[in-house]
Amino acid sequence: MPQRPKLLLVGQLSTLPWVFEAAERAGIDLILAPRGDDTPEAAARAAAVVEVLPLDVDGDQEAALAAVAERYRREPFGGIMAGNEKVVPFVARAARELGLTGISEQAAAVVRDKRSMRRLLREAGLGAPGFTVLEGPDDWTEALTLRFPVVVKPASGFSSLGVIRVDDKDGLQEAVARTWELVETHLRGAGPAAGEGGVLVEEYLDGPEISAESLVHHGTVRVCAVSWKGELTGPYFEETTLRAPAQLPAEVLAAVEAEVVAAHHAFGLTEGTTHTELRLVGGVRPVLLEMGARIGGGGFMHHLVDVGGGIDLAAEALRVHLGLEPLCWSEEPVPAGHAAAYLVPVGTGGRISAVRGLDAVREDPRVDLVVQTVGPGAVLRPYPDWSGYPAIVLSRHTSDAEAAAFRDHLASTLHVVYEEERS
Ligand code: ADP
Ligand code: CA
Repeated sequence: MPQRPKLLLVGQLSTLPWVFEAAERAGIDLILAPRGDDTPEAAARAAAVVEVLPLDVDGDQEAALAAVAERYRREPFGGIMAGNEKVVPFVARAARELGLTGISEQAAAVVRDKRSMRRLLREAGLGAPGFTVLEGPDDWTEALTLRFPVVVKPASGFSSLGVIRVDDKDGLQEAVARTWELVETHLRGAGPAAGEGGVLVEEYLDGPEISAESLVHHGTVRVCAVSWKGELTGPYFEETTLRAPAQLPAEVLAAVEAEVVAAHHAFGLTEGTTHTELRLVGGVRPVLLEMGARIGGGGFMHHLVDVGGGIDLAAEALRVHLGLEPLCWSEEPVPAGHAAAYLVPVGTGGRISAVRGLDAVREDPRVDLVVQTVGPGAVLRPYPDWSGYPAIVLSRHTSDAEAAAFRDHLASTLHVVYEEERS
């Protein structure tokens, strides 16, 4: 009997089930390098995990790399895949050193840095807003030449932390100072070694937001699903809703696909799976916001592609990283319906005592899964600061209209309750 394929999964939080369940479905064994905030016990319990390999990727990358090489020498495995944004460069490097499927280290560095992405999009003649890179908080005047409104954001951020819309020149200095402060407190060490900590100011792209999930195999890109995120006008950009497939005219979808495929080529992304965020300027012209070389949303974008696109995204991603051709390269996908994700808003922030309404939601037949990533007692900071999503609800529907109505229902029934401030 042929051996089951084995893959080293780096930094995938074990309480987020999609990749683990996909490995189980696809008959793939996982060696899990737990994320820093995970426990070895929880990691060992996750589906398809046959081995836990602790790696201190954040603290000592060289030692982590040596440990991966040593594990590979003992018994080779067939692939390595990143389970979160921060480890993408590490995984690219390990893949190259072991001769496994992966993206180049250069491409990995590009997608970790919004400045590089912007520059390469420009050079490739693709859509990109006017932008300015600030090297320090006092450089804010350099952005005054941009067309307002603008968006101030960390060069290597995530989850809209420190992302602020500024409508006129009077507000710029203060917003840059605020973003800079958040970069200093939360993003030190999160960015690429060269040029970490920078701040970007770019022209505001007016139009609804969408996301595209893609697979790339031997340089061929397939956009598997386009999801609708809707109008997010700021000043802070807390994401609450996604629905797939996005209800868009065929020519707009074709333009989105062309833009996303071209961006992969511009960034040099040749293998794996990606999460691309775009704005549809004027409702029609796609302009890329950013791309990540991983499954989006900590893995939950798998749900939107699986239900809304008919492609088992997480299993296909594992296959690509094992050097195998994705099944959807030879089989036409059959979408199962309309998928939705709802992220319960943080609101005012504070110390969580409960998320009210979740029990009833769990019982709802339209709901596939409720994930609570932060429990009672945890402290959540409100936007533009950010520290976690209180809960995520994944559901499926027979139409986009029903999915939209369900979103409104969730918005009116789910609330984070915070402990009262005590002095
Ligand atoms: P992050 O890595 O924090 O997610 P993004 O660049 O994706 O950073 O920005 C977060 C959100 O801020 C986006 O999803 C979008 O809603 C908004 N945003 C960022 N840049 C722009 C822009 N130039 N125009 C309009 N909205 C923007
Ligand atoms: Ca983003």
